[in-house]
Amino acid sequence: MSYLLYGSISKDNIEYEWKSEAGACEICKALNGTIYSSANDIPDKPHPNCKCWIDIREKKKEITDPIEARREIAKNKRRDELRLAKLLGDTLSLDDEIDEYIRIIDEQTTIIKNFENSINIDNLNQKKYKK
Ligand SMILES: [Zn+2]
Repeated sequence: MSYLLYGSISKDNIEYEWKSEAGACEICKALNGTIYSSANDIPDKPHPNCKCWIDIREKKKEITDPIEARREIAKNKRRDELRLAKLLGDTLSLDDEIDEYIRIIDEQTTIIKNFENSINIDNLNQKKYKK
């Protein structure tokens, strides 16, 4: 029985890739890009302070049927379109937020100006120089 992670992704579908960072030692560099089909196969980190990490991802399906391949391309294109639409939506809502902040700042500037104008400077001066 396969263990379900996120509904459609089963453990059979998952592969693990060893990733080493730039400047890693020779042992780590040699492991970079190694793909493991089971988490049990992944070796322990070779040394303390090892900054290597494991990329866990869905295995790429080999599609040989040309109709299925077309369908997959169309699906990916649609997914990209939706992602783009979401990004655009995020940008627009950010735009609205910025406009709202500017409006609030303008409002507060007006309040401050009105307050400044309401202060009678002559009164203050009179008090100060009263004999
Ligand atoms: Zn390492």
